[in-house]
Amino acid sequence: MGVVLLWSLVVLLRWISWKRRGAISYDSSDQTALYIRMLGDVRVRSCISLEPERRGSHPYLCVDFRILHSRHDPAAPASAYSVRRLLSFQRYLHSSRRLRCGSAPPHILDDDYVGQAKCMLQRTGSWNFDIFLFDRLTNGNSLVTLTFHLFHHYGLIELFQLDMVKLRRFLVMVQEDYHSQNPYHNALHAADVTQAMYCYLQEPKLSTSLSACDILLGLLAAATHDLDHPGVNQPFLIKTNHHLAALYKNTSVLENHHWRSAVGLLRESGLFSHLPAEDGLNMEKQLGSLILATDISRQNEYLTKFREHLEKDDLCMANSSHRHFVLQMALKCADICNPCRPWELSKQWSEKVTEEFFHQGEIEKRHSLEVSPLCDSQTNTVGSIQTGFMTYVVEPLFAEWARFSDTRLSRTMLGYLALNKAGWSGALQELGGGLDEGTEASAEEPDSTALPQGSQRS
Ligand SMILES: [Zn+2]
Repeated sequence: MGVVLLWSLVVLLRWISWKRRGAISYDSSDQTALYIRMLGDVRVRSCISLEPERRGSHPYLCVDFRILHSRHDPAAPASAYSVRRLLSFQRYLHSSRRLRCGSAPPHILDDDYVGQAKCMLQRTGSWNFDIFLFDRLTNGNSLVTLTFHLFHHYGLIELFQLDMVKLRRFLVMVQEDYHSQNPYHNALHAADVTQAMYCYLQEPKLSTSLSACDILLGLLAAATHDLDHPGVNQPFLIKTNHHLAALYKNTSVLENHHWRSAVGLLRESGLFSHLPAEDGLNMEKQLGSLILATDISRQNEYLTKFREHLEKDDLCMANSSHRHFVLQMALKCADICNPCRPWELSKQWSEKVTEEFFHQGEIEKRHSLEVSPLCDSQTNTVGSIQTGFMTYVVEPLFAEWARFSDTRLSRTMLGYLALNKAGWSGALQELGGGLDEGTEASAEEPDSTALPQGSQRS
């Protein structure tokens, strides 16, 4: 009897897992149809055609799941329609009330996998932490598992009297709001950034001075910093007149959206509902300040301020605004630390981010838009993009971070950065002479805003 019950549970959980792994793919051979991939490999073709330029947007960006769902049930009352429109594209697709209510375990794992995942959690502070393996061991739940573990590790649940069910529900919603179909900007990237952030929080200058509130905000910001990322960058949203670009006046469009999405989930989950209203609002504001710092088009602004502090040697960790600034810098480092990881990990991230760039380039070509810098697969390679990114964006930031936090970890990161850069340079030379004309122009551009990472890789 027990075996039968156990098997039934396994079948049920597998079904839930398949359901939550659903995704949308945009079929390039038929640009007027959406395909919804759910329940394994079964493809259900929707009868929905693309929305006409209702928001003045480009047709591609009219592929809006909220609209798709609203048409499935035209008789729905206006209030339900409004609520559904507020739900995110990704989350509404595969929302699982069962998972959100926390009434079922989120993982379907063999005991071996659970044991290995638990074992890996003991090494969360290792810079060589293989987040790809951890994600497999947790059945794609690395962000929920890791963040929950870190909250527990720091005692944040007790300190802030958090409701564990609400916390898990919040984290599941966060994980689901990342677009699993994005090659790079998905929940795995958020988990990776959270793990890197934890490594930085463990650095002596931070660990001895940060308050529990600083740590809570640092982890929350890392986990949510790219929430609901559409897989294209800000210039793309601006040139296609996307409603988000208009909403945020073409300024830190994605980062503002990530922050507002995070606030929406905090309020929906009621995670901080027991705190005084003023404290809750203050947390939301600080969370925004951290997430907005990941706008890499403002890198020089932050770097200049960081250098000034380092030259004056006036960063005082007893000062809350200074601690907040250090947290901003730590999150910026965590966000673009891929080139500072061991080659086997770094290479995988490089390939994923390039795939996302080139996907944007393909959309731009298909719709006769100007192809964004580094998004053209004909004139760029993974190696050429990485070399430019490392030289003009990553190295300057990590050099200053190492000046601030002169530790073994900082030296390790700079060491991997140099090795990886040499690895890509070697790969470039093997490809026959390195950079072509188009790549050279972008690689020589010292202004980080010219790089697609300017909005995309953040
Ligand atoms: Zn990011």
